[in-house]
Amino acid sequence: MFRSYAQDVDTHDRAEPVHAPRERRRACSPGTSARLPESLSGYLRRMARGGGLEEYRSKRDLSKSGEPAGGRRGSGDRFVVQRHEASRLHFDFRLQIGGVLVSWAVPKGPSLNPDYKRLAVRTEDHPLDYAAFEGRIPEGEYGAGTVIVWDAGTYRNLTEKRGRAVPMSDALAHGHLKVRLEGEKLTGAFALSRMGEGEDWLLVKIDDEGADRRRKPAKTRLESVLSGRTNKDLAP
Ligand code: MN
Repeated sequence: MFRSYAQDVDTHDRAEPVHAPRERRRACSPGTSARLPESLSGYLRRMARGGGLEEYRSKRDLSKSGEPAGGRRGSGDRFVVQRHEASRLHFDFRLQIGGVLVSWAVPKGPSLNPDYKRLAVRTEDHPLDYAAFEGRIPEGEYGAGTVIVWDAGTYRNLTEKRGRAVPMSDALAHGHLKVRLEGEKLTGAFALSRMGEGEDWLLVKIDDEGADRRRKPAKTRLESVLSGRTNKDLAP
């Protein structure tokens, strides 16, 4: 069923992935790897320990990048979308799942139009502290460029299978999740679906009261919901 989705994604999007790692992430695809996959219970134990931030930390020199190291815990189901003008512009869509922000890089940003499927490349989990991060990551550091908090709020898990609620961690592992966002720019339900076995997902607006076929906030509303600043304001 995802073939038709894939055809709708711009080749422009697909040709130049953002700074996403291409290696398989064991936690999100149990049972499909040639390597022994991490079990769901192992995944949940790891999440309970504070999440899988090793990859996040290993990619960065946090003393230079100015980004949070992580460690703070929080409650509630937060979401954040950061607009990141790196070597390529993208929007980092992050959902708090367990103790981390599970993250996707969306080159074109979320759309409110249910007809549009937006490529969302899963990237490494980020610490919860990252949800409030705005600033400039210096040249030479991973993801160098400017970051603003483009939208933020809470979400509710709507994922169901055969009429039963599916916990977020299971939904993530299965590659299908549906959430209702309560943000400033984004409201209503969105679906995230993994295409095949890699890290490419699609982010699609569900046709509900939050859908809008005319407004294009990713293009017209560039300001931070925290500070009112734009990426340009943070550029050198
Ligand atoms: Mn990014």
